[in-house]
Amino acid sequence: MTDCIFCKIAAGEIPSTRVYEDDLCVAFLDISPITPGHALVIPRAHHSGVTSTPDDLAAHLLNVAQRVARAQKTALGAEGVNIFTNEGQIAGQSVFHTHFHVIPQYASAPHRWNFDSTPYPSPDVPAALAARLSAALA
Ligand code: 5GP
Ligand code: ZN
Repeated sequence: MTDCIFCKIAAGEIPSTRVYEDDLCVAFLDISPITPGHALVIPRAHHSGVTSTPDDLAAHLLNVAQRVARAQKTALGAEGVNIFTNEGQIAGQSVFHTHFHVIPQYASAPHRWNFDSTPYPSPDVPAALAARLSAALA
């Protein structure tokens, strides 16, 4: 993709602060971190989001995210980590090239998420949703 900023970062056409790379992916520091050491793991190949990324590649990206998280704990002193990906504008995706966020959490200055959750109004609701999902996954 010629206009994709993460394709350009993967190709080395735009500078980034790399922490890891291999044949399939690159990990680098987010330019506007949620906490110090916030990293992104991206495939070298362009895929717009996690659900359209090939299974094996997505598994590799998550494994590299896991390794980056371990390094954040051992090398940066993080006590915890958030790993997530956003897909779609509605979900907060702003760069439409698959990426996993790997965000270290420090006891001295933790980032607090506001997930704004609400309990189901009755047990029927999750049961019906689970039935639809399990049928789609069968
Ligand atoms: P999204 O909102 O798509 O889940 O996350 C995109 C992330 O990419 C954001 O956290 C943003 O700060 C980061 N980002 C956007 N442009 C650049 C860039 O040019 N370089 C780096 N290192 N990070 C970027
Ligand atoms: Zn791309």
